[in-house]
Amino acid sequence: MKVRLFEVFTSIEGEGIFCGTKTLFVRLAGCPFSCFYCDTVHALPINSGCEYNINNACKLIDSKLKNNTYKVNFTGGEPLMQHEAVLELAKYIRLKNIPTYLESSCFDFDKFNQLISHIDYIKIEFKTMDSKFITPKSYEHTLTNELMCLQQSVLQNKKPYVKIVISSYTKESEFNRLLDSIFSISEINDISGFVLQPVYGSAMPNLNKLLQFYDLVCPYYKDVRIIPQLHKFIGAQ
Ligand code: SF4
Repeated sequence: MKVRLFEVFTSIEGEGIFCGTKTLFVRLAGCPFSCFYCDTVHALPINSGCEYNINNACKLIDSKLKNNTYKVNFTGGEPLMQHEAVLELAKYIRLKNIPTYLESSCFDFDKFNQLISHIDYIKIEFKTMDSKFITPKSYEHTLTNELMCLQQSVLQNKKPYVKIVISSYTKESEFNRLLDSIFSISEINDISGFVLQPVYGSAMPNLNKLLQFYDLVCPYYKDVRIIPQLHKFIGAQ
């Protein structure tokens, strides 16, 4: 089996509930989307990066792994594009007693479902239409898959956390609909966090907007957090 990797490196987790942890990032090539705020555009083509057989990919991971690594992130691009290879790499990493973490847009439930039992930490990202990544028709299909991935993670007691990227364009009506959908299939204790991540750059939402969206989550989930991407501020990868 082959895997196409864009890069493998150790850095500081810059997003979400594990922000600040020493992490090995395994960035896979390929993503079906093109969100306007994407900060890994070079990894989006499926032919980006380099191809490895699984043994050589494991050797590359070993060469980049450092002491006290908290977890190994499968990121992208979109890891589900190469889910069979991720499955093999996740098995290998778990043999070393290091937790595995999946960062995914959860666009394909079947692929996600094949992988989930080998993943320790799961971030379920819900896209909004203002990401401009997809047509309205495809959006409904993606949302259905994201919700199925959340539901399955909850059923398997994985305690996933939810992330939604907020830009200056994000609409309150759409956000409310997302909240209704998410909390119709999950209870407070089913998830380990709810993170609002502001877009960095020209579409960055202002403080009022962030606090407004924070307040919308509170009736469903009190421990909501607004967490910007740490690595952008410290100049890390
Ligand atoms: S889903 Fe993620 S990797 Fe793909 S385009 Fe959007 S932000 Fe970039």
